[in-house]
Amino acid sequence: MLSTMQDGPLSLANLLRYAASVHADATVTTWTGSTTRRRTFGELGARAGKLANALRGLGVGAFDRVATFMWNNTQHMEVYATVPAMGAVLHALNIRLSSEQLVFIAHHAEDRVVFVDGSLASAFEGVLPRLRTVRHVILVNGDAAGFRAPRGVEVHSYEALLEAQPGVYDFPVLDERSAAAMCYTSGTTGDPKGVVYSHRSLFLHAMHVTTPAAMGLSTSDRCLAIVPMFHVNAWSLPFACMLSGASLLMPDRFLQPEPLLAMMEAERPTHAAAVPTIWTGLAGRLATHPQDISYLREVVVGGAAMPPTLMKTFEEHHRVKVVHGWGMTETSSVGTVAHPPAHATGEDLWRYRMSQGRFAPLVEFRLMGDNNAPVPNDGESLGELEVSGPWITGSYYSPSHEAIEADSFDEGWLRTGDVGRISPDGFLTLVDRAKDVIKSGGEWISSIDMENDIMAHPAVAEAAVFGVPDERWDERPCVAVVLRTGEPADATALREHLAESWAKWQLPERWAFVAEIPKTSVGKFDKKVLRRQYADRRLAFIHLD
Ligand code: AMP
Repeated sequence: MLSTMQDGPLSLANLLRYAASVHADATVTTWTGSTTRRRTFGELGARAGKLANALRGLGVGAFDRVATFMWNNTQHMEVYATVPAMGAVLHALNIRLSSEQLVFIAHHAEDRVVFVDGSLASAFEGVLPRLRTVRHVILVNGDAAGFRAPRGVEVHSYEALLEAQPGVYDFPVLDERSAAAMCYTSGTTGDPKGVVYSHRSLFLHAMHVTTPAAMGLSTSDRCLAIVPMFHVNAWSLPFACMLSGASLLMPDRFLQPEPLLAMMEAERPTHAAAVPTIWTGLAGRLATHPQDISYLREVVVGGAAMPPTLMKTFEEHHRVKVVHGWGMTETSSVGTVAHPPAHATGEDLWRYRMSQGRFAPLVEFRLMGDNNAPVPNDGESLGELEVSGPWITGSYYSPSHEAIEADSFDEGWLRTGDVGRISPDGFLTLVDRAKDVIKSGGEWISSIDMENDIMAHPAVAEAAVFGVPDERWDERPCVAVVLRTGEPADATALREHLAESWAKWQLPERWAFVAEIPKTSVGKFDKKVLRRQYADRRLAFIHLD
């Protein structure tokens, strides 16, 4: 029996129409360093029409890749809203990648048009001659006339381009399964891999993000998107705000703790989203420059494990609720969110909140042990997490249709490369990336757990634990520590602190005190760099007996 329901595509063209009309009064606000620029979703809709006309005038057609090389700001949001809605494919380039990686990615994606922020113009000028598919550069907030481009590339000014256009554009009816956007993994090993999102996958994922099971967004909310728009589409916040009518706050290039806190003071966000290292920086600044930030109702932290002490600092000192989640480029970002069950109280509640959380609806999950056999969700057995569902990628983008990294997929399941356990009530706790697992004398040592415990020491600002080769035990944990300024602590004291909760054989011998932990282009601990520094004897460390 068929239903009597009508059908309609879950398309970002429909989303743009909806946001610009029903939520015309919601706003996108960009911080300029001292003040703000504000535009309503209604204005954004009118400018999207102009932008779509401009792009069509430049020859952009269905599925042409339109890239951005920009900070989080209002114009970036306009590009986000327009490009997929006109049937082209949005591709936010990671502005922090090396030029080699940028060239690889832009070629692989075959980017035709690139929107470039004026403050990033000289960085982009440097790589542009090697980007052979790019035909147009559109300079946002910059000097188009002064931009040096190779022959065959036209340079335009964003505002001049828009000014010349009519505001009305007939956004097409789109197939919800067609490509809408793409992102490349920020992986530190091998070539970056491309993921292509559909209108349907982005729509469904953004709907989940708006629900209380994730961020719970509505028209009275102001959502500060610190996570860059090139990091898994800023975890879908642009689309989730368009769906829910929540206003967006964009920090532009002002991502240091001081200006971020100044923007917060001026705009009083109710929600924010960023990786843990941003929150570490904010906590450090707040410790010396106290400021009330309790207007933040909930902040979402993911992309790397949130240290429990940092979570407690925000909750107990600043009255800000931190919600921990897990996700990947391949899972459109949000795969799990740690909202505790109603019965949880006390330490039990914290345990739930510090886990990676429960799986989103529509995300199927299982743990696979050695020999590729499923392991039970008993809260103890460890395995590699595999997921599937309508916003999980089924393959990596390949222009030649040859399978890329086929072993990342297991009969319809994505092998995440994350190792953890799942409790009988469905909470995921990750212990490591499979590539970061430390096996000492055949026994696993969880680098995430050990890092969290070291960071619970009051003298420690940041700590990364990584495996190094050892003649006797095959591998041993090595610790890189950043101490808080003025806080004395030595390796012996930190090891004694660990000895309170770890077995003697697990305690690390090698301790390196460093000024900074190396970070990836999206702000996670870069353990590949640490391992290389260790192997090249560039990491000075203390060896305890
Ligand atoms: P990316 O595609 O750059 O977002 O990286 C995804 C990877 O980040 C995941 O496979 C995990 O290894 C890691 N990750 C994301 N969220 C968390 C989290 N809450 N805890 C631990 N690791 C995480």
